[in-house]
Amino acid sequence: MIERARAEETWNEIRATVRVEIGEASYQSWIGVLSLESVDRDSVNLAAPNRFICERVSGRFGQRLQELWRAQDNRVKSVGFVVKNMGDAITPANTESAANPSAKPKSRRLSLSADDSETMTHEATTYTLDKRYQFDSFVVGKSNELANAAARRVAEAQTAAASYNPLFLYGGVGLGKTHLMHAIAWEAQQLHPEKRVMYLTAEKFMHRFVSALRYKDVFAFKQEFRSVDMLLLDDFQFIGGKDSTQEEFFHTFNTLIDANRQIVISADRSPNDLENVEERIKSRLNWGLVADIGPTDYELRLGILQSKAEDAIALNQGLTFEPKVLEFVAHRVASNARVLEGALNRLVAQATLVGRKVTVDMAQETLGDLVRAFDRRLTIDEIQRKVAEHFNVRLSDMLSPRRARAIARPRQIAMYLCKELTDKSLPDIGRKFGGRDHTTIMHGVKRISQLSDEDPALREDVAVLRRSLEY
Ligand code: ADP
Ligand code: MG
Repeated sequence: MIERARAEETWNEIRATVRVEIGEASYQSWIGVLSLESVDRDSVNLAAPNRFICERVSGRFGQRLQELWRAQDNRVKSVGFVVKNMGDAITPANTESAANPSAKPKSRRLSLSADDSETMTHEATTYTLDKRYQFDSFVVGKSNELANAAARRVAEAQTAAASYNPLFLYGGVGLGKTHLMHAIAWEAQQLHPEKRVMYLTAEKFMHRFVSALRYKDVFAFKQEFRSVDMLLLDDFQFIGGKDSTQEEFFHTFNTLIDANRQIVISADRSPNDLENVEERIKSRLNWGLVADIGPTDYELRLGILQSKAEDAIALNQGLTFEPKVLEFVAHRVASNARVLEGALNRLVAQATLVGRKVTVDMAQETLGDLVRAFDRRLTIDEIQRKVAEHFNVRLSDMLSPRRARAIARPRQIAMYLCKELTDKSLPDIGRKFGGRDHTTIMHGVKRISQLSDEDPALREDVAVLRRSLEY
């Protein structure tokens, strides 16, 4: 018998692999809509939301999924597909899937504007929004606050403001672009039910256009796209290449903007860095607001982990986390939100499997490769630079003989952090601080550890610096 929790975990890994193999757009259409339905002695069954998807997925991806599954668990001889309406998504099979709280639908997928009959005649056209991707589950930090604020503004606005139109969101993979786009669509739909909101990937837009050409119903295509109140186009970098699609996009874009309809676009790079995109389009994309989503910092990673851990705890009775464990993961897995989510899922799966709480040791063991990959060596230069920046003093002053308190204190904090965070000797550190004697370094280190007990503000400064250095 194949264990449910194990199968959930395998399914997560396979999905991640397929996501990379087939790209975000196809993944969202075909694989993201599947859920693990049942497991038995030597097979697993996946559920699709309707017959169309079921048949297409088994035809197109059945073989590959089976291959991947076998590679992970050689007891699995076959992967089957069943149809299951999302209306009854909460069945015993689903509530049981404790191993994987965040990847399962809490959640039914909502089809915004295409119905099944249309889906059957055209190529794949379901516009799906993931219920998990809403504003209240989006954790805001320095790197995404502008994007988040702009997204909320756009979602709430009654009519599109020129200064936010288009809203162009860009950033690296797994940083929450799709999450924000879905959140905008949900919120806009909630606040303004009368509006026609359309979300789709640029790839799908292209696909739709090409098949409209083939079926000679370009008129209907134009009407459909030009009648929306809000158009959200995800992964715009994939629009490149096809000239006719770009031409069509350009006209749709202009029509909508002229009519004060909101456009939101996401891409993995800024408008100016898009390749294979015509200059006139690039320049239009810069008309509204361009907001980037930067890499996650420690604080944001911790926030994301806390929020996902809360979800997991709510779904898994008895699951607990040792207090330090999320900090450990946030320090060591210095990566995007998607990877963090994966890491947390692994921990939860492990914990529910063996029925113990999530500890730092267990995280170290379970996340082996992930935490090792980011285990890095800090240098004295890095620490000095960071401290100087933090206190807004010049690096050269910090290394100089000046004794003014405003410089001496940061200097001692830097000495202290060098001693704590590197394995350099006191004389080594002294040499890097303008040739100071090792006793001076010793004194600085002692002074700061003493002051840390007495002065909360200084303790906080040290903690902040340590966190940002240790990520
Ligand atoms: P992108 O589209 O930029 O590649 P996604 O929006 O697909 O990234 O995000 C990847 C995963 O990480 C999703 O499950 C998403 O919910 C989660 N995620 C990303 N950023 C955040 C955030 N700030 N708060 C909570 N979850 C996030
Ligand atoms: Mg995305």
